[in-house]
Amino acid sequence: MTIRRLSEQVINRIAAGEVIERPASVAKELVENSIDAGATRIDVTIRDGGKSLVAVVDDGCGMTGEELTLAIKRHATSKLVDDNLQLVATLGFRGEALPSIASVSRFTLTSRTADADTAWTLSIDGGELGEAIPAAHPKGTRIEMRDLFYATPARLKFLRTDRTETQRIAETLNRLAMAHPEIAFQLTAEDKIKLKYAAEQSDLLDARLVRLSAVMGREFAENALIIHAERSGTTLTGYAAVPTLNRANAALQFLFVNNRPVTDRLLIGAVRGAYADFLARNRHPLVALFLEIDPRLIDINVHPAKSEIRFRDPGLVRGLIVGALKHALAEAGHRASTTVSQAALGAARPGMRTATPFGYRPQTPSNDLQENVLAFQTPLDHDNQLEPAARIENTVLPSNGTDQGFPLGAARAQLHGTYVIAETEDGLVIVDQHAAHERLIYEQMKNALANSGIQRQGLLIPEVVELEETAVTQLIDRSTELAELGLVLEGFGEGAVVVREVPALLGTIDVQNLVKDLAAELVELGDSFALREKLSEVCGTMACHGSVRAGRLLNGTEMNALLREMEITPHSGQCNHGRPTYVELKLADIEKLFGRR
Ligand code: ADP
Ligand code: MG
Repeated sequence: MTIRRLSEQVINRIAAGEVIERPASVAKELVENSIDAGATRIDVTIRDGGKSLVAVVDDGCGMTGEELTLAIKRHATSKLVDDNLQLVATLGFRGEALPSIASVSRFTLTSRTADADTAWTLSIDGGELGEAIPAAHPKGTRIEMRDLFYATPARLKFLRTDRTETQRIAETLNRLAMAHPEIAFQLTAEDKIKLKYAAEQSDLLDARLVRLSAVMGREFAENALIIHAERSGTTLTGYAAVPTLNRANAALQFLFVNNRPVTDRLLIGAVRGAYADFLARNRHPLVALFLEIDPRLIDINVHPAKSEIRFRDPGLVRGLIVGALKHALAEAGHRASTTVSQAALGAARPGMRTATPFGYRPQTPSNDLQENVLAFQTPLDHDNQLEPAARIENTVLPSNGTDQGFPLGAARAQLHGTYVIAETEDGLVIVDQHAAHERLIYEQMKNALANSGIQRQGLLIPEVVELEETAVTQLIDRSTELAELGLVLEGFGEGAVVVREVPALLGTIDVQNLVKDLAAELVELGDSFALREKLSEVCGTMACHGSVRAGRLLNGTEMNALLREMEITPHSGQCNHGRPTYVELKLADIEKLFGRR
């Protein structure tokens, strides 16, 4: 056996295996270098999803002919001062990217510094180094990578379609662009401009929001809450969208540590934790968060791609993120996303329906129409039948002008026993009374649990509820926890429980149905958790049986009480599953609907 040193070329190929996985990794390394070089504009051009070409041109500090030759040597970097790995302020520092890319492609660097009288160019073919020769190029650097993996075609097989690879490059560029609003970025793919962001001149926070809105969409900027928190010298800034603006995946969650884009599990988990109360498990919030932390408290050198991070004090970071997001969401109060009203308007816009012009009659009535006619002719069932006058008196309130100025307005009517219509200064609000009430009860219970405990109200006559034996067992097992939540029950012979006290804030409730639904909920949830942690599910079930149900008629005082309660209750803009509890339509929007504007 002979031991011999690997050639530099082989070492580079091995390193390339770690750093250069696909065209997007090439784009990432090259653009990061341009950012580190102080560029104010960066242009990326790709062909065939980056497989044939990734070219990055910047107007940064450039390199001299000598530096050019050095730059493609392994472990050559200008960025590590005093060999101190902890004080890295630049994106690069390992001195691995250029030699790695050069070893698996045809590579050309052309560069010029501000005070040089010529540019220099250097080509490397699959690691075979050429010589630097003078060339024509303005100040800055142009790096071209052609024919990725041409010498190792097996690796090409792991790449996806050009379209997917292009998308990945765009995503990579977006992440870097979000962290650097002061730099102009452009991506051209197959001769078409795919991304174009102008350099933002205003101060950091404004510039950042403009750039975020360019990348994540105007919707995000319109519905974003400002995040700003600090704990022992570590700061968190950025924006987080209200929960009613949410997605089916986490693609619009962006996290940066010291302005470096990262996809770190701890950080993602913290975001999920902060929103857990407001979103169903399969929905994801939109956030762009920037953590500034002393470089000595982290290790970014976990992986060559530097997208994972090790924190010295993970608890502090998690606490900071969860605390800051929860605080911002609480401040947002009843605010729901503008997309909700836009969606409503979209649905209401006349053009969106299959409009039937007035006077037009189909030759044969459709089934729908026939059904409607039949329904109209059937007498109402007696319980629901209200005299028209009584109905109006009960639900339509006069506008007296004194109760204006409330954000959610003054209640004017209740429709279909389900929706409260309120008039605001510049529009109208439609509240889903059931969803809103469910949220209010949830927040009240959470508050009560944290403070004095939930008030209970004894039943005059204890109520016996008959259930299946498994349900009974579940309820009895949980009876201590349920009592904490305000529901006191115990076993009552075989196949039944007796309920003695209920949460006072639920008002008069149908105990039978509440207990049956709770039992079903418990069976479904399984038993490996504390009920307190599943408060939103349990409260949802309880609130369902609370006093304001869909279908219950409310009087004016009750409706206004509901609106005022929503205004002062944190998170009341969405129900426990992230659905909105109300929709607001501005007069201006309504006027547009009617073509008045
Ligand atoms: P690292 O970024 O980790 O230092 P790289 O292999 O990516 O390693 O780059 C090596 C060196 O080449 C850098 O340290 C820098 O001095 C120089 N360099 C690379 N790209 C550029 C560029 N676009 N403009 C100026 N200098 C560059
Ligand atoms: Mg680099």
